[in-house]
Amino acid sequence: MALTPLIAGNWKMFGSRAMASRFAEGLTPAALPTGPDLLICPPAALVGLVASLFAGRGVSVGGQDCHAKAEGAHTGDTSAALLADLGARYVIVGHSERRADHGETNATVRAKAMAALAAGLTPILCVGETLAERDAGQAITIVRSQLQESLPDGATAGAVVIAYEPVWAIGTGRTPTVADIAEVHAALRAVVGDGVRILYGGSVKPGNAAEILAVANVNGALIGGASLAASDFLAIAAAAPTA
Ligand code: PEP
Repeated sequence: MALTPLIAGNWKMFGSRAMASRFAEGLTPAALPTGPDLLICPPAALVGLVASLFAGRGVSVGGQDCHAKAEGAHTGDTSAALLADLGARYVIVGHSERRADHGETNATVRAKAMAALAAGLTPILCVGETLAERDAGQAITIVRSQLQESLPDGATAGAVVIAYEPVWAIGTGRTPTVADIAEVHAALRAVVGDGVRILYGGSVKPGNAAEILAVANVNGALIGGASLAASDFLAIAAAAPTA
């Protein structure tokens, strides 16, 4: 089954109102590829503004994290329902920076993915091995167990997106070989079945996007640094194969 690729940008803790406006100005109809679905996940404080700036411009908006509870006394956190109310359609859960900085476990990630689904958002569930785990030959075992332990109950095909992001490839300029990407994505496909998009993330740039996006079972990309400028983001999107 051909899946429409998803090209998703993660602005992390970068961005401002001015930067969001500049990005929106770059989303001209002529610059927009017609094939893939496009998504930008700005910091939570910018989600509402970016949703209004991008309205009618062919790019969806998502959050970078949500709380596992629907609402409550959780100072500084953002609920999935609020993200949806602000115009988000997706939310990243289990990014390796959240796992490392906030001690998120697979169980936490699973609870967040379920909160996202309950709020009508599509969770983008991230998995990925560290360099030590890859060097020890454990990459497949690690990502498979991360996925099995963090997949929400009753996640029907299409309701979730998976992102394979080797921790050592994020923001480093290093990427796995296409054979390594293909091996991991095949292992993840065996867990989730057909119909679920599996993105690759980790140092995707305009120069390597075509090669990575052509790998079997790669249904799009999750992009950090190269998603901060509309020109780079759209150049990557233009490299996506048409479904
Ligand atoms: C990410 O943050 O998810 C990511 C893949 O970052 P980068 O593209 O900068 O490696």
